Amino acid sequence: MEAHTVLNLIDGSFSPARGGATISIYNPATGELLGTAPDSTAHDVDAAVEGAARAFAGWSALAPAQRGAHLHALAALVERDAEAFALAESRDTGKPLSLARSVDIPRAIANLRFFADAVCAQHTETFLNAHARSVVHRRALGVAACISPWNLPLYLFTWKIAPALAAGCTVVGKPSEVTPITASMLAQRSIEAGLPGGVLNIVNGRGPLCGAALVAHPRVACITFTGGTATGETIARAAAPSFKRTALELGGKNATIVFADALHGEQLSKSVHGVARAAFTNQGQVCHCGSRILIERSAWEIFVPALVARARALRVGDPLDCATDIGSLISGQHLLRVAAAVDGAVRDGGHLLCGGSPLDPSHLPEQNRAGAFYPPTLIEGLPATAKANQEEIFGPVATLIPFSSESEAIAIANGTRFGLSASLWTGDADRAQRVARQLDCGTVWINSWMLRDLRAPIGGMRASGLGREGGQEALNFFAEPVVVVTHEEPQ
Ligand code: NDP
Repeated sequence: MEAHTVLNLIDGSFSPARGGATISIYNPATGELLGTAPDSTAHDVDAAVEGAARAFAGWSALAPAQRGAHLHALAALVERDAEAFALAESRDTGKPLSLARSVDIPRAIANLRFFADAVCAQHTETFLNAHARSVVHRRALGVAACISPWNLPLYLFTWKIAPALAAGCTVVGKPSEVTPITASMLAQRSIEAGLPGGVLNIVNGRGPLCGAALVAHPRVACITFTGGTATGETIARAAAPSFKRTALELGGKNATIVFADALHGEQLSKSVHGVARAAFTNQGQVCHCGSRILIERSAWEIFVPALVARARALRVGDPLDCATDIGSLISGQHLLRVAAAVDGAVRDGGHLLCGGSPLDPSHLPEQNRAGAFYPPTLIEGLPATAKANQEEIFGPVATLIPFSSESEAIAIANGTRFGLSASLWTGDADRAQRVARQLDCGTVWINSWMLRDLRAPIGGMRASGLGREGGQEALNFFAEPVVVVTHEEPQ
């Protein structure tokens, strides 16, 4: 396979890091070297931000429909090359190719198209009273820093840059150093799509060096970040002295709540499949994964064996094989973190129902034996306050917790420092609404998981973040409302 030489996109031109330092990029499912990316420093960040600042006046002056047309052109090129993007995303992350084909890349295209249209549908708010007419103008902020993680690389990168560009900001994006390939493919397509130089800049490098320089840059007007809670805290501190507007999408320890009334007849199998999907999709590396499964005591004997059977039936292996459900974790280093968290849970008194140690390489195809494969793991017997029930593991690991009443389920679900999302499995529509209203998190799915309408706001409370993405909320984040008030003579 051809090696990827990822370059920065700065002011319309591709370049290596000043000084030429690079970071190696590996396929975590094989250990194969995929290529290199620039190990950028503050010098590169400075050039990118200056380019974005120069491009701002021209880009923000375009009509929304003109900016939208550029985004549509970019979306069309990603769609044209969707298979190449999906393959690159699978190789870069270790995720199943089928998932990259069905979720990551289609959603990246949808993000670009959605915000291209949404900005055209925006209207100006006007408030009239007996004395005044107040018109709210939304003025693009300037240079937006868009920092994204490795779990859903192109999906989350486009989720940030599309509303920023649509709203009239120019962008300096920083993808995760671990997964830079699809963002660099997008950069190439942006040139082909005719995006003016400097409007979209991409710098690659390490978070604490290149990411931190971007956050600190005085000409960056706002920061949108998705990643871990600890990094979010660092960024919030760095941004505070200059009052940069900041949106933080952080970690989760999401509850999946299963009531006995969700398990009648054919509902049992639907609920089991849904709960397993919420726990294990993308190897459990989705911030919304349901990693704490709360089960009504009266349903335990029916639900738990069925869930364990489903977890065992998931096929772990070569991400490029269409039959694979669970691919590789993001890296060998992350595999060690996940394994240590599971070992800790067992030391704390947890009992393994399935999984519990890295996959024996002899169960893998030859080419995947150096990969970072960890099987779906279910753990019971831990109190709700145990570390495994409080800290994000970000792997294919879920704990099972019994409850006896709605109020107990709600108390356990709300009993962490996070507040990102939850899913409820119940056959009682009234109960679903009643419980949903009492959960302290940004999204509650009922008998489903990760169903999305891109117009709806999404994000977290407490340690899961600050602000919301999606729809109008995202467009408004990138703009300053300026109110022009005209005196109205009484009629
Ligand atoms: P990290 O927080 O480690 O990194 C996220 C991004 O921030 C990367 O691009 C990283 O660069 C960069 N970064 C790291 N340190 C700094 C810094 N000091 N200043 C500026 N940028 C920095 O997260 P992961 O990539 O490990 O992603 C997993 C996490 O993301 C999980 O906690 C998960 O829950 C969360 N997440 C949240 C979502 C949500 O919507 N709430 C959605 C998806 C994931 P580099 O990689 O080069 O270090």
